Amino acid sequence: MPELPEVETTMRGLDKIMRGTKIAGAKVRRSDLRWPLPKNLAGQLTKRKIAGFSRRAKYMVIHLDNAQDWIVHLGMSGRMCVVDARQYKNPEKHDHVLLALSNKKHIAFNDPRRFGMMDLIPSHQTATYKLFKHLGFEPLSREFTGKALFQKLMHKKIAIKLAIMDQKLVVGVGNIYASESLYYANIDPRRKASNLTLAECAALVKSIKKVLQKAIKAGGSSLRDYVQSDGTLGNFQSHFAVYDRKGEKCPKCKTGACIQKITQGGRATYYCPINQI
Ligand SMILES: [Zn+2]
Repeated sequence: MPELPEVETTMRGLDKIMRGTKIAGAKVRRSDLRWPLPKNLAGQLTKRKIAGFSRRAKYMVIHLDNAQDWIVHLGMSGRMCVVDARQYKNPEKHDHVLLALSNKKHIAFNDPRRFGMMDLIPSHQTATYKLFKHLGFEPLSREFTGKALFQKLMHKKIAIKLAIMDQKLVVGVGNIYASESLYYANIDPRRKASNLTLAECAALVKSIKKVLQKAIKAGGSSLRDYVQSDGTLGNFQSHFAVYDRKGEKCPKCKTGACIQKITQGGRATYYCPINQI
């Protein structure tokens, strides 16, 4: 499933190709993905100029020149990437939406499992959009600070790992990134969230940002291949400090097979009990 760094990387790649271009043609090949697609989506997109992109959680927001925002979510298996003119003419089975741009590039939204979604809304409603209004902090935003996290955790009796994975608190901290962030902040994932000090919250926020930025950077370097090839989205990072490394040695320990695996909320957590307290 595409995580926030992969969505951010996809968005940056598409923005480079699509910003300032006009949608010369659009094909919409089915009436629904996870939910029904907007009525006459192809007609509504055609002749529109793309003003730019932004992102909220894992939703890409494509700003059109008629004060409308086209919202796209990749779901579990979706990808949106550059294809050639031939594929635009003869789409592949799961190419549900295709665009022909004024710069002669072609884009396909391909989603075999159809958990993705699209919507078209007036841009002044985007901030309060129904799917956005319950979302927590953007992790890379200036608003997400140690103090802000500390205040949110004050009454949370759940484990800190589960708290930072709650999208209503902060978006985009998936299972892998939660384990990695807690490791770099030296915090035991089982700690009660409300027991973290302000200094620990500050360290955790810093490491969440660092871990996500690192993943985005790793994705950015493989972006050229990505947009030109099949656009497969996975985890850009294959080497983690603790994640999926049970029984191995973490980067901070000199010796020993320190990394342990536990289950929290039905998901695997990896941590080093020597460094994380
Ligand atoms: Zn260790």
